[in-house]
This record gives sequence, C-alpha cells and structure tokens, in this order.
Amino acid sequence: MNTGLAPERLALEHLAAEHLAAQSEFQEFVERHIAPFADEFHRTQRTPPELVRTLAERGLLGLSISKEFGGGGRDAITLGILAGTIGRACSSIRSLLTVHTMVAHAISRWGSRAQKETWLPKLATGECIGALALSEPNAGSDAKSVATRISSDGSDWRIDGHKSWITYGETATLFLVVGRTEEGPTAFLVERETPGLSTELITDLIGIRASMTASVRFDGCRVPEKNLLGRRGLGVSQVASTALDLGRYTVAWGCVGILEACLEASIAYANQRETFGSLIKEHQLIRRMISNIFTDFRAAKLLCLEAGRLRDAKNPGALEAASVAKYFASTAAVRAASDALQIHGANGCSADYPLQRYLGDAKIMEIIEGSTQIQQVTLAEYAYHAYAGVRSRGGNAPWRHR
Ligand SMILES: Cc1cc2nc3c(=O)[nH]c(=O)nc-3n(C[C@H](O)[C@H](O)[C@H](O)COP(=O)(O)OP(=O)(O)OC[C@H]3O[C@@H](n4cnc5c(N)ncnc54)[C@H](O)[C@@H]3O)c2cc1C
Repeated sequence: MNTGLAPERLALEHLAAEHLAAQSEFQEFVERHIAPFADEFHRTQRTPPELVRTLAERGLLGLSISKEFGGGGRDAITLGILAGTIGRACSSIRSLLTVHTMVAHAISRWGSRAQKETWLPKLATGECIGALALSEPNAGSDAKSVATRISSDGSDWRIDGHKSWITYGETATLFLVVGRTEEGPTAFLVERETPGLSTELITDLIGIRASMTASVRFDGCRVPEKNLLGRRGLGVSQVASTALDLGRYTVAWGCVGILEACLEASIAYANQRETFGSLIKEHQLIRRMISNIFTDFRAAKLLCLEAGRLRDAKNPGALEAASVAKYFASTAAVRAASDALQIHGANGCSADYPLQRYLGDAKIMEIIEGSTQIQQVTLAEYAYHAYAGVRSRGGNAPWRHR
C-alpha cells in the first residue's frame, strides 16, 4: 500500500532553519565519526579517547554552555537534536554528552561566578570531562539517602564514600559529587587528581557498554570550600535536580534516536526477508509492529520538541514536559527495540545485527534519570496539580438514580 505521502509531508515537527542546518551538520558528523564504529565500541566496551577529543574539537561537548564561558550558546532544541542524532547511532556516546552537559548545566545554574569562570571554559572545550557521582550501592532512586560522608577538615572538606554506576566515571576529570554534610545532601566538585579518589571500571552491562561506567571511591579526599556547589543541604533538591532535569531531556532525545534506528532497521529487514512466498513486510503482524514503532517514534519526538520549546521559553512547565518525554520515549524505545529484534528473528539475536545493542541500551534508559516507576509515581502529581479543579461529571447522570 502506498500512502502517497512524500517523506517531508511526514515531518510534523516544523523545525526552524537553524535547527534543520544543525541537524544535517550533526548527521554528517555522526555518520563519519560514530555510526560506523558503534558496534565495535559496544563489543570492546570502550569509548576511544580520540573520539572524545573530536567531539570536543567540533564544539559538541560545549554546545549548550554559554558563549560567555567559551561554549556554543546553542538552545535546548539544538542540544536535543544532537542527542537524538548521536543516540540513533550509539547510546554510549550520547551518554557522554548527557552526563557532561548535566555537570556543566548544574555549574551554570548553581555555581559562583568564580566556579563558572574556572570550570565552564574547560568543560566547553573538553579539557575537562564531567561526570555525575550521585548514586551509591544503597542509594539510587532515593537520592536523598546518600551516605557518602562530607566532613569539615580545617578550612577544607573531607569526602569518604563509595559511588556506583557512574557513567564515564572511568575517564571523567571532574566529578559532581553529592554526599552528606550535617545539613544534609551537599554537592561538591571534585577533580580526578584529588588524592584518595579511585575508580574501577564496571564491565558487561546490558547496555551503554562503551560508556566507561565505573565505581568511584573517595577515601579521605580533601576538597577546598571553593568547590562547594550550591548551598549545604541542597545538593539533591537543587543541584542534582537541575542536572537530572537536563539529563532526562537529553535521555528522552537519545531514545528518539533509538526509536528511529529500530524503525530503519526493521523496514530495511522487512523489505528483504521473505517467508511463505512473500516479503515479511507484507505480513499483517509485521506491519503492526512497524506501525507501532513508527507511531511511538513520532510521538516521542514531538514530546521532546515540546519539552525543548518550553525549556527555551524558560517556561516552568519544561520540567514536567521533560519527565513526560523521558517516560514515554524510554518505555517506547524498549517496546520498539523488542519488536525490531522480533522482526529480525534469529538474526536479531546475533551480534551481526545491532538489535541486541538497541534493546540493552533502551532498557538502561528506563532505569536512569528517574526510573519508569519513579516517573509513574511522580507524573500523577503533575496531573493532579494541573487538573485540581476538575469535577466528576458522572454523579448526576440520570441512570445513576434509577
Ligand atoms: C548503566 C547505568 C549508568 C548509570 N549512570 C549513573 C551516573 O552517571 N550517575 C549516577 O549518579 N547514577 C548513575 N546510575 C544509577 C542510576 O541513577 C540508578 O540505577 C537509578 O537511580 C535507580 O536506582 P537503583 O538502581 O539503586 O534502583 P532502586 O532505587 O533500588 O530501585 C529498584 C527498583 O524499585 C523501583 N522503585 C524505587 N523506588 C520506587 C517507588 N517509590 N515506587 C515504585 N517503584 C520504586 C525502581 O524503579 C526499580 O525498579 C546509572 C545506572 C546504570 C544502570
């Protein structure tokens, strides 16, 4: 069946010229430097340092950092398009963009003038690579329960604790660490070279296997007062929350990328695989799966665009929109990757095709930056608030009184 619609008719998003230009620039970069190597990154569980340098040299790591501090000063839509474009090829590299920009964003929002001047130019050029060290073996969703101890040590602070699952923890040079002072969760910036800081690579994860995820230990690390980010006691409610909000936004876009990759792989395979005398694309149950992936892809992209536009407009609804986008896009990406693998049959289970990578990567997206269950609990709050005034219309229906 031919719908008669040219591809441009299906582009609902109405991107501005500057965003269309950014999209083609990013696509060209990703096709050259990332896409051909993504399976190898996955297999070797490693991000080549040269690629990080190339990303930095092209200004992609500092894309959203203010121009005042040497960044690209680009808007949220452009950052989202970059995350989606990289995510379509490789979720591990997209995760680098995510954690790095989360740290820069938290410094931009909560840092002192001196902290911004010290760190943002280095993050913008990639001289410094940021990682968020929030989770611990016994503190994930419940971030406020972090146990890493931060105690006063003369004019400095001393950090003792263990962080786990830190994306790019193995290679990052600046950690945004949230530990516990007397006032409660508190954020500090800790440089990799700080004595007492050590990392251990975590291998064989189900997804984002090239993302240099590590456990990070702090054994009597001394950091100066000037590295305190934000106020003591507000390390989760302000600093980490700001970082996680941006993280949800770029993760959602990364999932749009996974959805598109699943759609493309499924169509390409269904167009060439035959069973029972016809191409599998003609079987109704295959069409059903492709229709679902297609719909989810477009819906997720529109939610991400809405989240980006609200963010660029500094609309407070951007927070809620990022959560909705992340929740929808990550769960949709898992469904799409599972269906895309199904469409590939046995080939989908093999390392010759990227389907198992897509499925593992998508599953991680349901766990990080506020798991699916945390979104399911919190989004209802937004809904209750938004519709607080609504009243049930059913009570006066005549049939009720019969
Ligand atoms: C590959 C990877 C990379 C990561 N990168 C980072 C990183 O860079 N920095 C960092 O700080 N952390 C990172 N994390 C950790 C991640 O943020 C946590 O895994 C996440 O917050 C969930 O915490 P948890 O794993 O401890 O699960 P838990 O919080 O123990 O939750 C276990 C299960 O219970 C559910 N659950 C929890 N609370 C509730 C509730 N109230 N209601 C209903 N269900 C609930 C969860 O959804 C989950 O299904 C990463 C994790 C992975 C896997």
